[in-house]
Amino acid sequence: MYLDAHNHLHDATLRPHLGRIAGQLARLGLKAAIVNGTCEDDWPAVSRLARQHPWVRPSYGVHPWDAGNRSPAWMGRLRQILLEEPGAAVGEIGIDRWMTDAARPDDARLLGLRRAPLTEQIEVFLEQYALARELDRPATLHCLQAWGALDDLLRSNPAPARGFLIHAYSGPREMVRSFAEQGAYFSFNGGFLDPRKEAIRDAFRSVPADRLLVETDAPAMLPPTPWRTHRLPPAPDGTALNHPGNIEAAYAGLAALRGLPVADLAAQVATNFKRLFGAGAG
Ligand SMILES: [Zn+2]
Repeated sequence: MYLDAHNHLHDATLRPHLGRIAGQLARLGLKAAIVNGTCEDDWPAVSRLARQHPWVRPSYGVHPWDAGNRSPAWMGRLRQILLEEPGAAVGEIGIDRWMTDAARPDDARLLGLRRAPLTEQIEVFLEQYALARELDRPATLHCLQAWGALDDLLRSNPAPARGFLIHAYSGPREMVRSFAEQGAYFSFNGGFLDPRKEAIRDAFRSVPADRLLVETDAPAMLPPTPWRTHRLPPAPDGTALNHPGNIEAAYAGLAALRGLPVADLAAQVATNFKRLFGAGAG
C-alpha cells in the first residue's frame, strides 16, 4: 500500500495521460496522494481532481516560485477555498534561495515568473503558515538553499498543531533534529536515489521513524533510470516527466536505505501519513 505525500497530479503536462495514470496507480495500490496546487490558477484543477478521485487529497498554496505573480486577492481566495474544503491542506509554501541566487536567467522552470526576493517570499510563506495553524490544517513546505532562514522562521512562528511536512528534504543532516522538534515530517523523493545525492540519503538515515514520509513530486524529480518502474513520454517541449507510479521506487529506495522490508516501511509511513494529514474522506 503506497501513499504519495507530495505530487502535482494536476500539472498540465500530465493531463493527456491522466486516464492511464489513474488506472496504473490503482493497480499499484496507491491509497492516497497529496496533490499540491502552487499558484492561484492551479487551485480549480486540484479541486476538480479531488472531486473525481477519492484518493486525491487536495492542498492549496502559493509556492515561492509563484509568490512574485500572486494576485492582490490571493489571500482571500486561499482562505475561501480552504473553508469550502475542510479536508484540504495548505501547500506548497516555503522559501527558495536557489531561485534568487543560483538559477540561470533562462531556466525553463521559472520562465515568465517574477522572482520574488527572499524578504517577499518570507512574507507570503508566513501568512500561509499562520493560516494553516488558524484553520488547523497540515502544511507542506518547500525549501531550497535557505535552511538557516527556515529554521529561524520556524523557531519564531508557531507551527500548525498537526505539524508540517518538509517535502523532498535536502537540508543538512545536522538540522533534522531541530526541524523534527518543531513538528516537521520529512518526505523522501525517488530523485534522491541518484548516486550523487549521498548527503541527502545520509540525512534520511537520521530522520526519526515516526516522521518519515515518501513522495514523487511528479511530474518533477525523476528517479534515476535503474529505479524507474513507470514511464511517460516527454512533454511537448522535451521535458522528461516523472510518472507518479514511481512512488514504488521511492519506497524501495528508502526501505533499502533504512535497512527495512518495504512492508514494514509502508506500515510506518501509513501511520505517519494519517497522523499528519488525517484519515481523509476516501
Ligand atoms: Zn512540489
